[in-house]
Amino acid sequence: MLLELDDLTKAKIVALILDKKTEVALENLSELYKVDTPEIVVGTIKKKRRTVYAVYVVQEKKIYALNSEIFYNPFIILHEYYHHIRSKFGMHRGSEKHANMYAQEFIDSYMRIVEKLNQNKKLQKNT
Ligand SMILES: [Zn+2]
Repeated sequence: MLLELDDLTKAKIVALILDKKTEVALENLSELYKVDTPEIVVGTIKKKRRTVYAVYVVQEKKIYALNSEIFYNPFIILHEYYHHIRSKFGMHRGSEKHANMYAQEFIDSYMRIVEKLNQNKKLQKNT
């Protein structure tokens, strides 16, 4: 199954994406999982009739983000990344529900770390 990552590691990945370093974030993640890094581009694929924010194309090992806003959206990028690692490990690409859960775990870790940092700030004020 998938390697468990700690809060700080997941928070760093989210922070990188928010810092507009999506490619670096995906490289770091892929190093942790020991899989190839997927390519990520801004663009859409013609085959899809419906407009989607992002899509992972298994054959191309590529994530397509609809626009630059999506490119820097941690939840959407991590959702698509989940489909990448699932297919890399030779599993079914994974359900949408699980892709959402995977992405949400990263966001939750990020929020926990931010919360801790804010607590430190309060402590500093009161000492
Ligand atoms: Zn999906």
